[in-house]
Amino acid sequence: MPRLVMKFGGTSVANLDRIRRVAKRVGVEVAKGYEVIVVVSAMSGKTNELVGWVNETSPLFDAREYDAVVSSGENVTAGLLALVLQENGIEARSWQGWQVPVRTSSAHSTARIEEIPTDNFDDRFSKGMQVAVVAGFQGISPEGRITTLGRGGSDTTAVAFAAAFGAERCDIYTDVDGVYTTDPRVCEQARKLDRISFEEMLELASLGAKVLQTRSVELAMRYKVRLRVLSSFDEMSDDAGTLVCHEEDIMESNVVAGVAFVRDEAKMTLVSVADRPGVSAAIFDPLAEAGVNVDMIVQNIAEDGRTDMTFSLPVNQVARAETAVRDALERGEIEFHDLITDSNVAKVSVVGIGMRSHAGVASKMFRALSDVGINIRVITTSEIKISVLIDRKFMELAVQQLHEVFELEKA
Ligand code: ADP
Ligand code: ASP
Ligand code: MG
Repeated sequence: MPRLVMKFGGTSVANLDRIRRVAKRVGVEVAKGYEVIVVVSAMSGKTNELVGWVNETSPLFDAREYDAVVSSGENVTAGLLALVLQENGIEARSWQGWQVPVRTSSAHSTARIEEIPTDNFDDRFSKGMQVAVVAGFQGISPEGRITTLGRGGSDTTAVAFAAAFGAERCDIYTDVDGVYTTDPRVCEQARKLDRISFEEMLELASLGAKVLQTRSVELAMRYKVRLRVLSSFDEMSDDAGTLVCHEEDIMESNVVAGVAFVRDEAKMTLVSVADRPGVSAAIFDPLAEAGVNVDMIVQNIAEDGRTDMTFSLPVNQVARAETAVRDALERGEIEFHDLITDSNVAKVSVVGIGMRSHAGVASKMFRALSDVGINIRVITTSEIKISVLIDRKFMELAVQQLHEVFELEKA
């Protein structure tokens, strides 16, 4: 029988009524003759609450216990959905990650899925199981401890199951009706895309569009999973939502496909570091060891053998980064005259595969921002994206302005 993976995010399972609606949707696919694997998130807000409890209990927490606590929200929704499906006369049961087992690396809180053995489910489906309800976001490490896959990780669970079980499609049900040119909550003009390429979706996700976890897009691209994003609140139809697919399957596309942003960024500058070989490594080694995710890096032109080094990082890692840099200074590994931190910046990016063959996107972007008085602090580019760091208070304005200037409301 054909197989389908259906994933429901936090808002879609926020209470019992919504879980009943989810069960109805699953029932429709079962009636069509699919063997269905459903992946669920925790009820909306639950994971944040659990993370908050861990931080409050133990600021320097044991990552294994963090995962034990934070993974629990998904267990509840998986069990509840299995119960409702059973009430509806469907053969269903719930599975926690370790029961499948979803084998992952040992990188607690950011684990990677390494293997999902299929024999267990294959056997159950052949004996009449109609739906397997899987708790998303979690797995088990080689050491036998519970792991989690990073925030938004249920998307990755869903795609990994679709790949492992050769599902006909992986449907990601969420609280918007597809992938938009930008977050529709920030820009009213945002337009829903019928299709988007894997490459563009990957960039948008890694630059902040949280509609899909980055890793889920990587997996779908690698294992050729038909990935669809759609609303769990609209009427069901076969062509609803957005299909994430290969570039060749898209007829026409704009030079810029979308705008993404990360609101809570910070910028640090080490003023007057020596300009000689080994200095960058001496700065970024201790930051990496402290687990700081450095993003953009710029080094100014040197004068008198000294230069300034600026980099961006998530705002909640500033304290850790400052400690790492100051400790390295005390150990005499680096020297600088001053450390300047700005915790009020945001990153805004434009993304599009059309940039490979079109010049002028960068200048258009910079002109558009200057037209509304926005100062650009840092710029980075790659083949299909341009990112800028700006003051956080201008983030919404920047997104709306770029959306308008690149005419993203038009197909
Ligand atoms: P779920 O709980 O279903 O996983 P998420 O909150 O993780 O849902 O992701 C959906 C949200 O992603 C939307 O509510 C929207 O605000 C946000 N989002 C950001 N960028 C985009 C985009 N380009 N298209 C659609 N949604 C986006
Ligand atoms: N519940 C987890 C989170 O909020 C995983 C997910 O919803 O995808 O990050
Ligand atoms: Mg999500």
